[in-house]
Amino acid sequence: MTDPQGMFSLELSDDLREMRQWVHQFAKDVIRPAAAEWDEREETPWPIIDEAAKIGLYSLDFFAEQWFEPAGLGIPIAFEELFWGDAGIGLSLVGTGLAAVSISANGTPDQIGEWVPQMFGEPGDVKLGAFCASEPGAGSDVGAIRTRAAYDEAADEWVINGTKTWATNGGIANVHVVVASVDPELGTRGQASFIVPPGTPGLSQGQKFKKHGIRASHTAEVVLDGVRVPGRCLVGGKEKLDARLARAREGRRSQGQAAMRTFEASRPSVGAMAVGIARAALEYARDYAREREQFGKPIGANQAIAYKLADMQTQVDAARLLVWRAAWMARQGKTFEHAEGSMSKLVAGETAVRVTEDAIQILGGNGYTREYPVERMHRDSKIFTIFEGTSEIQRLIIGRAVTGLDVR
Ligand SMILES: Cc1cc2nc3c(=O)[nH]c(=O)nc-3n(C[C@H](O)[C@H](O)[C@H](O)COP(=O)(O)OP(=O)(O)OC[C@H]3O[C@@H](n4cnc5c(N)ncnc54)[C@H](O)[C@@H]3O)c2cc1C
Repeated sequence: MTDPQGMFSLELSDDLREMRQWVHQFAKDVIRPAAAEWDEREETPWPIIDEAAKIGLYSLDFFAEQWFEPAGLGIPIAFEELFWGDAGIGLSLVGTGLAAVSISANGTPDQIGEWVPQMFGEPGDVKLGAFCASEPGAGSDVGAIRTRAAYDEAADEWVINGTKTWATNGGIANVHVVVASVDPELGTRGQASFIVPPGTPGLSQGQKFKKHGIRASHTAEVVLDGVRVPGRCLVGGKEKLDARLARAREGRRSQGQAAMRTFEASRPSVGAMAVGIARAALEYARDYAREREQFGKPIGANQAIAYKLADMQTQVDAARLLVWRAAWMARQGKTFEHAEGSMSKLVAGETAVRVTEDAIQILGGNGYTREYPVERMHRDSKIFTIFEGTSEIQRLIIGRAVTGLDVR
């Protein structure tokens, strides 16, 4: 956010502005008109993913280009626009990207080259990726993961057993990344991620959840029953894992902290999704308040409504600034001294819930029906205080960073 002269600047580069316009157009022309239909169908919107693939939006190239965009704002800007279009369809489009990051951030170059393209497929034959960490007994408490991975040295294979839950694209993805424990005594430090290649026997989908919101995004259990994957599917490789386990057994903590940094760095992208929903609801309510008349004047001419819209706009802008700051810091390799990644996700998620609720209020009875989109946006927004770390967990992380104490 500094220009070449070293001045502070929030001016976006031409590349970012063009990209934003391009994604916005797709969101407006393709995603929005389909939003209500896929919400009702509660199914993955394959034709829309294919449309996005045809123009290069659903592609490894696009995600990689935005991921490495120099200001760090490529992903937040693209995600805000997609989720402005619709959150359920948006998540179907970016869920793969989040799974791909789990390999890109910690995998070897060979693993990235082999598996990440298979998560996206090609236009006409699109595929998905899934990241499976959560379990029935391990949500916020990721250290409680019970899925086990044992190394079969003779076959150079890992054998994985366990049940994952809440997996976005779980069971319908081409490539799954599964977090499992290799040494339960070490908690999170004894865990590793494994790539499960397409068609691997023993991996199956459990129940698919019927949800409150983001219903166009598939969420399901994933059962791993004696799943065998080649040794090369351990993300990062065995040498790295063995060194990490040895350090953990000696009581040294460096890698645990590195994992936390990876989580922190991905949080602004999730915050950006929430900003997209909040902005969509704000714009809809603003236009409605200008048009709808009661007592002989637009309802927006009442201070009660105008103040509400003023707060909504202010909160959306504030959330976006926190998202951009954290994304910029992550890209520049700056340390999150005060858990700035968590701050951005916390504020953006809670803003989305509040703003979408206010939008319903501004639309009155209409806002409460499925004839108008703000009801769907409100349902969609709620997930942002739950997944990728609940609001309570974000506060825990920020609280620890601020106090320096082991807050529990
Ligand atoms: C639609 C959807 C999609 C998802 N996609 C994925 C995915 O793709 N991959 C994946 O691995 N997971 C995914 N998740 C799982 C998600 O990350 C978890 O739901 C989340 O981490 C919370 O875990 P939990 O549901 O078990 O809640 P719990 O951990 O049981 O929490 C319940 C409540 O207790 C609070 N709480 C827990 N511990 C503390 C504490 N120490 N202090 C204060 N409060 C606390 C929580 O904040 C929450 O309010 C998804 C979930 C949903 C609903």
